[in-house]
Amino acid sequence: MLKKVIIGNWKMNPLSLKEAEKLFTDVAEGMTQIKKTEIVVCPPFLYLEKLKKISKKITLGAQDASFGDTGPFTGEVSGEMLYDIGVRYTILGHSERRAMGEDNSNINKKIKASLSAGLRPILCVGEEARDASHSYFNLVKTQLEECLVGISKNSISKMIIAYEPVWAISSTVNRHDATSSDCREMYIFIRKILFDRFGPDAESMRVIYGGSVNEKDAEDFLKNGGVDGLLSGRASLNAKKFTDIIKICEALKN
Ligand code: PEP
Repeated sequence: MLKKVIIGNWKMNPLSLKEAEKLFTDVAEGMTQIKKTEIVVCPPFLYLEKLKKISKKITLGAQDASFGDTGPFTGEVSGEMLYDIGVRYTILGHSERRAMGEDNSNINKKIKASLSAGLRPILCVGEEARDASHSYFNLVKTQLEECLVGISKNSISKMIIAYEPVWAISSTVNRHDATSSDCREMYIFIRKILFDRFGPDAESMRVIYGGSVNEKDAEDFLKNGGVDGLLSGRASLNAKKFTDIIKICEALKN
């Protein structure tokens, strides 16, 4: 049984280090008796080093990492730099970065660079909309296949795949709710693609769900969506909501 993971993606929030420290401290303090669930928080880059000193209970993740290791890449932050300050995960291929121009080939380079720096990539995939002819399955398949080109079986246990239907993410204009059966269907499909690509070793990869998850529907997604964890954006900015989601996950039987 894979260890479940709850990941908070703070995006470009909060506006000050003081607020970031408070939010992180509140989450850490709300996490008593959490033994089975892994907790990862991904704040903006510049808060990472300060937050690292607050609590060892929470693993830190970045929201991106460069395709390069060092050198003339103005504005970039490399996996090596992140690993050196204690970061262990990085989100890659988030739909908000894809919307800024990142494509599967860029993401593939970032995955390789992050893995060689010792980071664990959280690869986000997901369609912008659903269509009656179900072509969104092909889109997710292409995202996975192109982002995972050249990734060896030895590395896959370090990776998490996050299925995030863009139409269900809280920042999407005209968003609408995904159901746990939408999630379950795509979970099974993603598992099949991973199996076809890596064989039985693919079972070591966690496949999680993200898209406006909150403390009211987290249990449904975890139980009936079949996923190995959740990626939360907006709810992770509220310590009470985020710790409630963590406790719901911890209380699950398996
Ligand atoms: C996200 O953007 O990764 C996300 C899951 O956000 P939200 O929970 O706010 O939809």
